[in-house]
Amino acid sequence: MTESNRIPILETTNLTKYYGKSRGAEDVSLRVYQGEIYGFIGPNGAGKSTTIRSILGLISPDRGNVKLFEEDALKIGARLRQKIGFVPSELSYYDGLTVKQLLKYSADFYENGGQARIAPYSERLKLDLNRKINDLSLGNRKKVAIIQALLHRPELLILDEPTSGLDPLIQSRFYEILREEQKRGCTIFFSSHTLSEVERLCNRVAIIKEGCIVNISEIDQLRKLYLKRFRLLFKKGKSLSEIDLKGISELKITKQGAEGLFEGDVRDLMKQLAELPLEDAVLEDPSLEEIFMHYYSDRGESL
Ligand code: ADP
Repeated sequence: MTESNRIPILETTNLTKYYGKSRGAEDVSLRVYQGEIYGFIGPNGAGKSTTIRSILGLISPDRGNVKLFEEDALKIGARLRQKIGFVPSELSYYDGLTVKQLLKYSADFYENGGQARIAPYSERLKLDLNRKINDLSLGNRKKVAIIQALLHRPELLILDEPTSGLDPLIQSRFYEILREEQKRGCTIFFSSHTLSEVERLCNRVAIIKEGCIVNISEIDQLRKLYLKRFRLLFKKGKSLSEIDLKGISELKITKQGAEGLFEGDVRDLMKQLAELPLEDAVLEDPSLEEIFMHYYSDRGESL
């Protein structure tokens, strides 16, 4: 599908929010198309929640526009929110209810049979419906929020760090559910502070740092960047104290070998390696986390 015939479901233009003098998010421009799973990545404090809360009208941006389903969300947000499922990063619930009572109460806001979906989702995510909300762990509270967001079959899911606190089995079940949602046409906007989490799931990612978008990429494009991780094993007795290779970064030399990142045409690396006293060499694609660190973070600063 070309860019021109895809339907933008979530669009922000120069969205900016300051808290007093401190920057929450600045000039955030994003476009998420129908049926995409879109990752929104950045370290804690980068501005993900500020952007998401502005999109949903939970806080008022200082500047910029938000369109949801091609309509001006800042003017008619309430009607549009009916079509949205939202998992906030911070959860707060009514005291004293059981999980079942809370989910039934949530489902009653909608007319499309959400009640019937409570039990199957709870089973898949291993959530005990009879427990009191107050007694739940963070992970179980997240499950409640996820199910609440899914019950009314939304057209757009906005998920703010939805997996924090979920164990790996439940995470993979949750990803399975998201893929099913995508198949039925739902658009998903998913924030996380780890790129590796979303790389399996998302079609595109936007990376936000210090309030500003620093990169938007197709996941496949990120992988195609000319970056390789290499691991070298030296021949016995041939340890080297330094290696002078072009295009190398993050070089670590040990007694037995060396490892690092190479940026450039891989044939140049092979030529250079051929000059070294090697027993073995392994070349592999770096993780997306490493790619991001290499290209977009300041020296030494982590994502
Ligand atoms: P993220 O979701 O990426 O962790 P946030 O959007 O929560 O980031 O925060 C972005 C910046 O805005 C941070 O510097 C944070 O301290 C600040 N911030 C967020 N909420 C508030 C608030 N209610 N009052 C003041 N500053 C805030």
